[in-house]
Amino acid sequence: MKASKMIIPTLKEAPNEAVIASHILMLRAGLIKKLVSGVYNFLPMGLRTLHKIENIIREEMDRSGAQEILSSAMQPKELWVESGRWSKYGPELIRFKDRHDHEYCLGPTHEEIFTDLVKDLVKSYKQLPLNIYQIQTKYRDEMRPRFGLMRGREFIMKDAYSFDVDEKGLEASYQNMYETYKRIFDRLGINYKIVLADTGAIGGNGSHQFMALSDVGESTIVYCDHCHYAADEEKATSIAAIRYEKEEFKDVEEVLTENKHTIEEISEFLNVPAGKTVKTMIYYTEDNKTFGAFLVRGDYEVNEIKVANALNSSEAFIRLATDEEILSLGSVQGFIGPVNLNKDVKIFVDNEVKELTNFVVGANKKNYHLINVNFQRDFDGVVGDYKKAKAGDLCPVCHQPLKSERGIEVGQIFKLQTKYSLPMNCVYLNEQGKSLPMVMGCYGIGVTRTFQAMIEQHHDDDGIVFPLQVAPYHAVIVPVNYNDEAQKALAESIYEKLSSQHVETVLDDRLLKIGFKLKDWELIGIPNIIIVGRRASENIIEYKDRKINDKVEMSSDEVVEKIVNLVKAL
Ligand code: ATP
Ligand code: MG
Repeated sequence: MKASKMIIPTLKEAPNEAVIASHILMLRAGLIKKLVSGVYNFLPMGLRTLHKIENIIREEMDRSGAQEILSSAMQPKELWVESGRWSKYGPELIRFKDRHDHEYCLGPTHEEIFTDLVKDLVKSYKQLPLNIYQIQTKYRDEMRPRFGLMRGREFIMKDAYSFDVDEKGLEASYQNMYETYKRIFDRLGINYKIVLADTGAIGGNGSHQFMALSDVGESTIVYCDHCHYAADEEKATSIAAIRYEKEEFKDVEEVLTENKHTIEEISEFLNVPAGKTVKTMIYYTEDNKTFGAFLVRGDYEVNEIKVANALNSSEAFIRLATDEEILSLGSVQGFIGPVNLNKDVKIFVDNEVKELTNFVVGANKKNYHLINVNFQRDFDGVVGDYKKAKAGDLCPVCHQPLKSERGIEVGQIFKLQTKYSLPMNCVYLNEQGKSLPMVMGCYGIGVTRTFQAMIEQHHDDDGIVFPLQVAPYHAVIVPVNYNDEAQKALAESIYEKLSSQHVETVLDDRLLKIGFKLKDWELIGIPNIIIVGRRASENIIEYKDRKINDKVEMSSDEVVEKIVNLVKAL
């Protein structure tokens, strides 16, 4: 391709709203262009890479035995009512009516559609197992679209759904996808960790996330170097490293703690360590309309995903109780405690609180706390894991100190079991002719998010540094002066040779200053750059490996052979 015929809309500066390197670079390199918040157009260079990423995913999905289909983004309300999600999904779901007043949504995911499809297409155990997937556009009206393609309102996802006769089959399908995802992210050159993920209301250890490691990631990974335990912070469990000796129970006392609001202030004032004060947070669920009081040690935070699970709700439907609600429950904001709390509030006690003796809690009375409180002597509750795990805590598996790091969730796999097949009646007939629900799994990769995560991991001060397998072009030839006969002739002959051997090559025939042209290609991140200059008449060029940024002189034949071999090895 000749550069003079291409759209190369590179920018010196990125718009102010772009704050992370990958977003800035995608805009500056002219890979994407914003349409409205969270919605982007893909420009020629960006689209070439997008297709390459999709094709790697497609090849590995096909190799795993899955079959590709393409379904619609427009989904009828009826299927979402069947699954029970029409009322549960919340404002992220984009809903609309057609001219006949029929209701629809734009699919944020496709469990309903695929379950309904397979229910019609598959009748017998002989047709199972089955895994079908698509690479398709999704819509989610995200509260805060940001970071470009990382959190869009329209984005491309590869979603796959497996259907098996039983749990054992699901286990095999899940394992197959787990291995397939590893191959995909390895081939894409992503540096990632696989972590245990929350499964919401379904429970069990039925989900993993694939996290591209990056400081700008919105997820926190808690992991252990010793035994390889790794989990999303939402899911992670841990053991507190700081522990307290058990004491003889003392008598409860009410103490005045006027103007002492934070855990630090209270622990200093009462001269007890923060870990022996206990905070009580009251949550309310909008869907099942219940209150729950959660007790964690003062040196920990409450994990709201665990709260949602304990209350049989989901993150979108829980919130902290308001000051008025707290008053109506017989307590007061800032001084909430479990002793004599209104019976309508179910009490949940974190494992680490259960281990404490003689601890401090709010007195449910303005300006007062109780000291020497003990679980089961002074109040009761459901013991469980409700705290946020953090670095420095001990690993739940091997008891070594945990570490933490940031990650971008690029994929998630999930054992759905019969969550959709039961309500939607997606059944098969077994060998005995008995009708049973199919056992399902679902598997997503954020294709456009992965694209940007890759750039977050592969860039330097000059721009993007594309891995060869996904670069928009493999090579670019940049003559210093295209009007110079020798340079033009050599550039064109290299171009012919590379192109004829399946090297995707750009010839920069623009009549621009060499520095300007090179800056463009370095910004876009083409892996192999061939500069044709003053030694053109001797068939000598300068070769620049974008990764190393070092120029080396070599003959034109040598450079052709080198790049052809690199591309052949892909
Ligand atoms: P998140 O927690 O980041 O909102 P999610 O867990 O809701 O994501 P899934 O339903 O698991 O997302 O979707 C599968 C994949 O789609 C995710 O792993 C992620 O890579 C991608 N994805 C989800 N939401 C977005 C978005 N708004 N923009 C771009 N990619 C997204
Ligand atoms: Mg997810």
